[in-house]
Amino acid sequence: MPQSAHAVLTVKVSPRGATRLKAGHVWVYRSDIVSADDVLPGSLVRVVDHRGKPLGTALYSSSSQIAIRMLSPDAIADFPALLRQRIADAIAYREPLVRDTEAYRVVFSEADFLPGLIVDRYDDILSLQLLTQAMDAEPVRQAILTELTARLHPASIIERVDPRVRELESLPPRSSRLLLGEKTSTTFTMNGVHFRFDALEGQKTGAFLDQRENYAAAAQYAHGDTLDVFCYQGGFALHLAPRCSHVTGVDSSRPALEIADQNAALNEELLGQNELEWIEANAFDLLKDYASPARPQEARRYDTIVLDPPAFAKSKRDLDAALRGYKELNLRALKMLRPGGILVTCSCSYHVSQSDFLEMLGSAALDAHRTLRLIEVRGQAKDHPVLLNIPETSYLKCVIASVSE
Ligand code: SAH
Repeated sequence: MPQSAHAVLTVKVSPRGATRLKAGHVWVYRSDIVSADDVLPGSLVRVVDHRGKPLGTALYSSSSQIAIRMLSPDAIADFPALLRQRIADAIAYREPLVRDTEAYRVVFSEADFLPGLIVDRYDDILSLQLLTQAMDAEPVRQAILTELTARLHPASIIERVDPRVRELESLPPRSSRLLLGEKTSTTFTMNGVHFRFDALEGQKTGAFLDQRENYAAAAQYAHGDTLDVFCYQGGFALHLAPRCSHVTGVDSSRPALEIADQNAALNEELLGQNELEWIEANAFDLLKDYASPARPQEARRYDTIVLDPPAFAKSKRDLDAALRGYKELNLRALKMLRPGGILVTCSCSYHVSQSDFLEMLGSAALDAHRTLRLIEVRGQAKDHPVLLNIPETSYLKCVIASVSE
């Protein structure tokens, strides 16, 4: 029977799917769907267990491995109104929590009860990601744009598209583009440091906002000769530079380093006489050369080293290889740090848990014959909330440690 515009159809989930939902998670995988007859891609569905007992209302994807993302334990009479309320709530949640920044994440998907929607703010530009069939639907887009415009009065709104995500959701290809206004670039200030933002360029939605509070934390301890490995557009390097005598940023992406250099120019006043240099290189090769050169007397020494690599473990299967990669980097960095030196080491792989990461770090310290004292064990900034019963919302680790002989 064809589905009428407003009928909410029913999806039945297996006992395993129901147990997951009862434990506070919001996802049901396709393998736990018992039936989803006539359900349209991206539609709102009523979820029941295998006995027909109602579990709540969810958004359905006909294509993703995550078939169901729960929205509410109850029925939903007006989905666009619920969306608008949740966007307003996400904005209000951040008001007392987000400080000293013109750039932050306004909506973080499941962590703001808006699965599939990410909104980042850079000064007066909003950058939007619509990651599921449900969020991509036209009436849903309209509700999102209306609420964001009414609450935040942006000069422009840009949609950032990850082609891989659209493919996984069986959505037609689309390119990143302006949805509202004309403005595509600006500058923003976070923790007193200025950055350029080009909405249609760069990785992620432009900057690594999840590290915002870690930049400020690391700056408290940084000193001397500093190496920022995987520096991208200079997030750590620029925050640390006022405290350090010399900062070297390393990244394999030339466009990222060009922006890092422009960012340094924006911060002339803050940086004063401090020297910054950018090196385009493969970090693994460079650290190997620096830590263990052919002529040992040429080994480099630093007082502060930041390691912020891309996610090494994209799935659980990659865990062992990822831990080996992290260990290699951390081992080399530890060898190069002077006594009293500061290591700032990060992982944004969800599949590497905080305890895995600390264990790897302990093992690297043993192999490097160094002793590490933990100063801070940190996660993602507060505008990227963590929901305790949805482990996937917690992914970033940032450990700040002091190194002794
Ligand atoms: N620390 C940055 C974010 C780093 S993201 C910030 O706070 O803004 C990871 C970076 O690693 C990206 O800029 C990417 O270009 C770079 N990268 C990936 N593989 C690399 C490699 N093998 N060597 C050097 N850089 C690499």
